[in-house]
Amino acid sequence: MISSCLLGAIADDLTGATDLCNTLVRDGMRTVQAVGVPPAGFAVPDADAIVVALKSRTIPAADAVGQSLAALEWLRGAGARRYFFKYCSTFDSTDQGNIGPVADALLDALGAKLAIACPAFPETGRSVFQGHLFVGDALLSDSPMRDHPLTPMRDPSLVRVLARQTPRKVGLVPFADVEAGEAAIAARLEALRAGGVSHAIVDACSDAHLRAIGEAIGDMDLATGGSGVARGLPAAWRRRGLLGENASADALPPITGHAAVLAGSCSAATLAQVEAFAARHPARKLSPADLADGPAVVEATLEWARGLLPSGPVLVYASASPQEVAAAQAALGRARAAALVEEAMARLAAGLAGLGVRRLVVAGGETSGAVVSALGAKALRIGRQIDPGVPWTSTLGGISMSLALKSGNFGSRDFFAKAIAEAP
Ligand code: ADP
Repeated sequence: MISSCLLGAIADDLTGATDLCNTLVRDGMRTVQAVGVPPAGFAVPDADAIVVALKSRTIPAADAVGQSLAALEWLRGAGARRYFFKYCSTFDSTDQGNIGPVADALLDALGAKLAIACPAFPETGRSVFQGHLFVGDALLSDSPMRDHPLTPMRDPSLVRVLARQTPRKVGLVPFADVEAGEAAIAARLEALRAGGVSHAIVDACSDAHLRAIGEAIGDMDLATGGSGVARGLPAAWRRRGLLGENASADALPPITGHAAVLAGSCSAATLAQVEAFAARHPARKLSPADLADGPAVVEATLEWARGLLPSGPVLVYASASPQEVAAAQAALGRARAAALVEEAMARLAAGLAGLGVRRLVVAGGETSGAVVSALGAKALRIGRQIDPGVPWTSTLGGISMSLALKSGNFGSRDFFAKAIAEAP
């Protein structure tokens, strides 16, 4: 069988991968997110796009390169014909990497000379003008990213930032070309390529710019950037006959079974969602101090859920106020408090699956990672968006379940009930 996979993407973190998948599905591409490089023997899923989610944003550059090349090899084996390296729309990286080294390695492996580098996502306030990245109306270096604990961004010029991460030439497709449209962008890219440039930062301040960029790079092997730049690609590929129309790219297999919510995020949005859901549904709170006493708490919680699930969804949460979190961290240490909660959420997910839960909503990025690995899921097929950036998904590999994985601060106050009402 000829593979249907057109796009093979590599994302440098899990929630960034989901964001890209969600964007592709909304533009009519059937998309699967692999959790890490799939193991040997994993059947290539039937999808227009496969996004391999790595955890490579802040690891040493050599490791990020190694993992990215392994992902590329797998995607090539899956039959991909175009490649995308997805990083954060705020270009999160340090002078030691990893965007430059990974992009260089991917260019070499693909035998390509030039790739664009465009983190712009105007819909979410990320725009690039004359090579400078803006977050809303502030330069990147004046935004909260200035003080990010792992990747502080203090230089708004992406040409300079990327030039410090690669020995190769970095150039710019400036605003005037992007505004002039596809032909001007393509001509500038050709001129940069002829001048020995390997990475082209591309300005973009609107969706129209992203569409023009998509058309201009539709034949290039590799693009790098944020999810925004993927907005323009499906239409460009359709015009080239590489991708069909698909009105049901977000279709997921229906799954019947009980529903539950696990919340391990302490973000403000999650705290409000927990309060709203607990007012109308059975809910049980776990604290790191209780969990430190041993596995009995998790077992008792599963016993409690067993009796309630046939009548409706239940919520188990560790979400707590900043004061409670600070107290738990002071008593147990930050890492141990977090690990106790993550391990408990992982065991609860497996235990709930054993009780017949097949639709599970999870709040928290790290929490989601722990749950996905506890369920043995190797990949997720991406479905319809519930709230911006958060789609329903179906597991591939492991137990068959529908999962809604929500990064802490995402979603409206009624997200949990809404997600369960819309579950496949
Ligand atoms: P978010 O997406 O909001 O950042 P994460 O799940 O990524 O959520 O991170 C939340 C972290 O806080 C996890 O490591 C979780 O185990 C930890 N945590 C959850 N509840 C508590 C608590 N009550 N006290 C201390 N740490 C907690």
